[in-house]
Amino acid sequence: MSIVGGISLNTPVYRLVEEFRTDPSKIFNYLDMIYKNIDRVESKVKAFITIVPQETLYSYVEALLKEQKERISSMRLLGVPIAVKDNISTKGIRTTCASRMLESYIPPYNATVIERIIREGGLIIGKTNMDEFAMGSTTETSAFFPTRNPWDLSRVPGGSSGGSAAALVAGEAPLALGSDTGGSIRNPAAFCGIYGLKPTYGLVSRYGLIAYASSMDQIGPMARNTIDLALMLSVIAGHDPHDSTSLPAPPKDYVMALKELDSKEPKLKIGIIKELFEVAEEEVRKVALKAVDMLCSYHECTTISLPYRTEVVAAYYIIAMAEASSNLARFDGVRYGLKVSFENRGWRDVYTEVRTKGFGYEVKKRIALGTYVLSVGYRDMYYIRALKFRRILKETFDSIFKNVDAVISPTMPILPPRLGEFAKDPIKMYMADINTVIANLIGAPAISIPVGFYNNLPIAVQLMSKPLTEDILLYLSLQLERRTGLKDLIAEVP
Ligand code: GLN
Repeated sequence: MSIVGGISLNTPVYRLVEEFRTDPSKIFNYLDMIYKNIDRVESKVKAFITIVPQETLYSYVEALLKEQKERISSMRLLGVPIAVKDNISTKGIRTTCASRMLESYIPPYNATVIERIIREGGLIIGKTNMDEFAMGSTTETSAFFPTRNPWDLSRVPGGSSGGSAAALVAGEAPLALGSDTGGSIRNPAAFCGIYGLKPTYGLVSRYGLIAYASSMDQIGPMARNTIDLALMLSVIAGHDPHDSTSLPAPPKDYVMALKELDSKEPKLKIGIIKELFEVAEEEVRKVALKAVDMLCSYHECTTISLPYRTEVVAAYYIIAMAEASSNLARFDGVRYGLKVSFENRGWRDVYTEVRTKGFGYEVKKRIALGTYVLSVGYRDMYYIRALKFRRILKETFDSIFKNVDAVISPTMPILPPRLGEFAKDPIKMYMADINTVIANLIGAPAISIPVGFYNNLPIAVQLMSKPLTEDILLYLSLQLERRTGLKDLIAEVP
């Protein structure tokens, strides 16, 4: 790995920023290193849909350094290239949602999270591949191409934020943003051996995030170590008047909060959710249980039981598809979406063509199912029932969190599948979300932490806690990170 002025490809972001603040010229050396690596690996990994050209970022940094001279020393992401999932709006940079529907859409505004990153001196290096409209678990439903897992190119990187996770572990960017409706940050974080956090619902603004299922969507940080994750969360979290579901939470420095907890080392209560280990494959379970041992040698652990399995997944998919069918109605070719010719044609023909050509198979399937579960006659049987279950699940976890500070499970019950494997068995794909969708249904924060390998494939655990206790998750993550030594990983792409 090349080293320039004490900086290499896997230098943590918090160290990079210190270096760049004292000597901003190092930003250019670092960008050189990153773009060289992109040239080397991107044709194999295919993490990005759009890459901002090196010259563009160079001129941007030159202007930034001139204009903001006195502010530079306080910028928390100064000169850090950031990979952004392609469903987060970036002014002037194509934002496709990995769909033909938005193939040539260039947003006229920035999402709030992007504004906040830019204010802190961060650089948007590109837009990452994903499952179309974030619907999927493998990045294979992208209308453009699948992304590959840098640890094993025959396997998927997970999804739907697969491009962001792959970019991190392939050394193409040191920090990334993903979105998570039912696991889309944590699933690819687990499959790629990086850290990913789904914040409490409402902690991070959804303004500028192209909606999938609005009652569960959250943007969150993805990084190669815990402190970088905390740093990114500090930048993007906090109230935003543009998002009506945004919580009135004041800005918080999660790095400070983490360091404070870490210095006091409080002993916590951790619940081990039995059923979520039982559903995991043997190899995954073994490695995850080792991580449990590491935490339980210090903290107080108890085994807890969750009496639901398939119900969780069913409720999630019913609610997600119902909301998606409503959210995606706006892509009609008039207000939003693919532009086709209107000449001598009725609206029905135009509308049909736009939606037939614009959406891929998985998206169409979900719109159809979502419309069905909301239809008169079936609404009570499916949608309303799912909402009732969601309430029961929330109450179940409210009482669990009265007794424990956090709960642990494997993040994904399986190892990263090979490309094409899930297409043969979509139910298996949906069921693999069982551990992750809970946090979205109840609005709680959850983190994925890499804890080991099996045959060079990463395995991760998930910790989940009460709303607005992200600092607890970060504290436990840092402890595990020290014990496993699994941080700042970059895969050797052949
Ligand atoms: N795999 C889940 C789904 O397909 C989660 C996706 C997500 O979190 N965006 O809905």
